[in-house]
Amino acid sequence: MRIGFIGLGIMGKPMVKNLLKAGHEVIAYDILKENVAKAVEMGAAGAKSSRDVAEQCSLIITMLPNSPHVKAVIMGKDGVLEGAKEGTILIDMSSIAPLASKEICRECKKKKVKMIDAPVSGGEPKAIDGTMSIMVGGDREVYEEVYDVLMAMGGSAVYCGETGAGNTTKLANQVIVALNIAAVSEAFMLSTKAGVDPGQVFEAIRGGLAGSTVMNAKVPMITAGDYQPGFKIDLHIKDLNNALETAHQVGAPLPLTSVVMEMMQNLRADGYGQKDHSAVAKFYEKLTGTRIK
Ligand code: NAD
Repeated sequence: MRIGFIGLGIMGKPMVKNLLKAGHEVIAYDILKENVAKAVEMGAAGAKSSRDVAEQCSLIITMLPNSPHVKAVIMGKDGVLEGAKEGTILIDMSSIAPLASKEICRECKKKKVKMIDAPVSGGEPKAIDGTMSIMVGGDREVYEEVYDVLMAMGGSAVYCGETGAGNTTKLANQVIVALNIAAVSEAFMLSTKAGVDPGQVFEAIRGGLAGSTVMNAKVPMITAGDYQPGFKIDLHIKDLNNALETAHQVGAPLPLTSVVMEMMQNLRADGYGQKDHSAVAKFYEKLTGTRIK
């Protein structure tokens, strides 16, 4: 199948690679020319704009940072809706605000374009392996129609409900990941200050109730002081912002999320915005003047 792909960053590039590996033809576009060139090196064809992608493809995937970027790419000048034919399917795999998904879907409907929201979890390693968890909102029939394409990039694709439900599920995921990283950082600082080697603590507890995918992925980065992203603090701040806004609209207080949000804001002010979110450990290192290693 010919698939248009817009947004060739940390996640988009390996996702394109997996689509190519599954035998699909990919027409790729990113605002950064070097990212288009990298997709072309992998075997995709480059496009000149989002509109150009839509003119060539009737199935389009977007993987962009946040709601304003997705709106610009879909609804803006030289955007997807300027070039899309009736019946085109749009899968937005970016993590954005559920309300923005609903707004974009409404605009798509006016042009008879079918849109689902299908954000992902698993980060770059799972994007590379093609084992991401995909959470889908929108028309169930469209989800079923594109299921095989989703499974070329993911290990699971679960239908969560109407438009925006995929992104609501993703917000729940991001709250759990943020709080888990903070809990791991806090606990490993405790062991460091108490004189017990964090490496031994990791080995001792990773198989027990406290063990988690977050712990397995992030503790080695924290103890090595390696904060290459991965998933950037700036993007996690974006997700927590969307979570807090959505939560306040529906009357769900998020006291723990707001504390971790302030830790991340502090790290961004210190210049860590483009570092991996495991750098939340730096917040604790700053408080104590001690490295977790
Ligand atoms: P990224 O910043 O690496 O990539 C985003 C890409 O979009 C960039 O290449 C950028 O140039 C491009 N872009 C921005 N505006 C554009 C426009 N108007 N037209 C065309 N291209 C444009 O981000 P990422 O890490 O790949 O994340 C993408 C999405 O996936 C985000 O919503 C993020 O929250 C989500 N996500 C990321 C991870 C992760 O671990 N990185 C994991 C799960 C979900």
